[in-house]
Amino acid sequence: MDATMPKQLLFIPGPVTCAPEILAAMAAPMIDHRGPAFAALLERIARGMQPIFGTTSDVVVAGSSGTGGLEAAVANLFSPGQKVLSCPVGVFGKRLATIAKLYGLDVEFLETPLGSATDPAALAARLRADRAHEIAGVMLTHNETSTGVQNDMAALAAAIGDHPASVVVDSVSGLGASDFRMDAWGFDVVVTASQKALAVPPGMAMIAVSPRAWERMAAASEPKFYFDLRKAREFAALGQTPWTPPVSIAYALDVAIERYHAEGAAHVYARHARNSHAIHTFAKAVGLEVFSQPGAHSVTVTSMHVPAGLEAAKIRKALLDEHDVVLGGGQAELKGKIVRMGTMGALSVADFVRGFDAFETVLREQGLAIEAGIGTRAARAFLEGDLVTR
Ligand code: PLP
Repeated sequence: MDATMPKQLLFIPGPVTCAPEILAAMAAPMIDHRGPAFAALLERIARGMQPIFGTTSDVVVAGSSGTGGLEAAVANLFSPGQKVLSCPVGVFGKRLATIAKLYGLDVEFLETPLGSATDPAALAARLRADRAHEIAGVMLTHNETSTGVQNDMAALAAAIGDHPASVVVDSVSGLGASDFRMDAWGFDVVVTASQKALAVPPGMAMIAVSPRAWERMAAASEPKFYFDLRKAREFAALGQTPWTPPVSIAYALDVAIERYHAEGAAHVYARHARNSHAIHTFAKAVGLEVFSQPGAHSVTVTSMHVPAGLEAAKIRKALLDEHDVVLGGGQAELKGKIVRMGTMGALSVADFVRGFDAFETVLREQGLAIEAGIGTRAARAFLEGDLVTR
């Protein structure tokens, strides 16, 4: 890539804008991935990720994007033919179910209308009906990036109660941006990835595993090689990964975790909540309807209906071509129907103001009848007021 290429202002929900310190960390020289310096680095990553997951259990890493971590969860926890209850609320939950099917699992769906969160009462009812405990796994999404929906994980944990199923959570686009308590909520395998709320380039999946899950993995018979988590744990005890890790991403992740804790989790949560609130404020002011249902809004990505008469692809193209601003589009059945604006990454208030300004300029140019500056003024007033009161 040409280093002189214009910098894009990224509002896609990953990969996200990385702070200069994070990018600079990746320029450090290579080290022996089986030597003491890498062992110390791996240990810092595992220890530093634990409070972000809300766990005291092991966190292992894999050189892959988030999908690899999710495949690892399926391949390690289960045996062919076992029944799992998949609770998708969009594209990524369905993808996890597809992985489970490919591994020969018997996948049952708990259906949820797009834009809504998984209903804890429906989950509780289905599990209560499973008196014989045939359901070996429950698969949940913390934050569904395709719809901008965030599940209430505490409520879903309570709905599962003491049902013995292993609980797999896709928190690829959620972890770090809001409160998450893996141990308190009784989750077994939680997966996240480097390029989302931790704001590191893509390349590493971080996978937290409960003690109960390690026990079950010993008896699970799905085939696995690259994503053998028990092997990852054996090697982690030696300060290594089984296979050659993305060393430069590990450097960057190490810096990101340090910066995360220096900022403080509460502040990181507040930052994502504030920026998502600013997007909602903007949407309301310009008359864009938010796609996610009240009570189910994500703090990392906001989905908005495309106004009647306008085209998502044209809006996104003009933003990119004329403003170097990148918004996400809709996926699968939502293609052309929504646009998505994310909050993850090293984005300042000024970046948001620039993004809003470009977005409403394009909306006006493409025919939306709104007063110039109305959305940006509203969002800016909220952001500046919020900063003052903090
Ligand atoms: N799950 C969720 C909720 C995601 O947002 C994504 C990516 O956007 C994935 C899974 C897949 O992760 P990756 O693209 O890192 O493989």
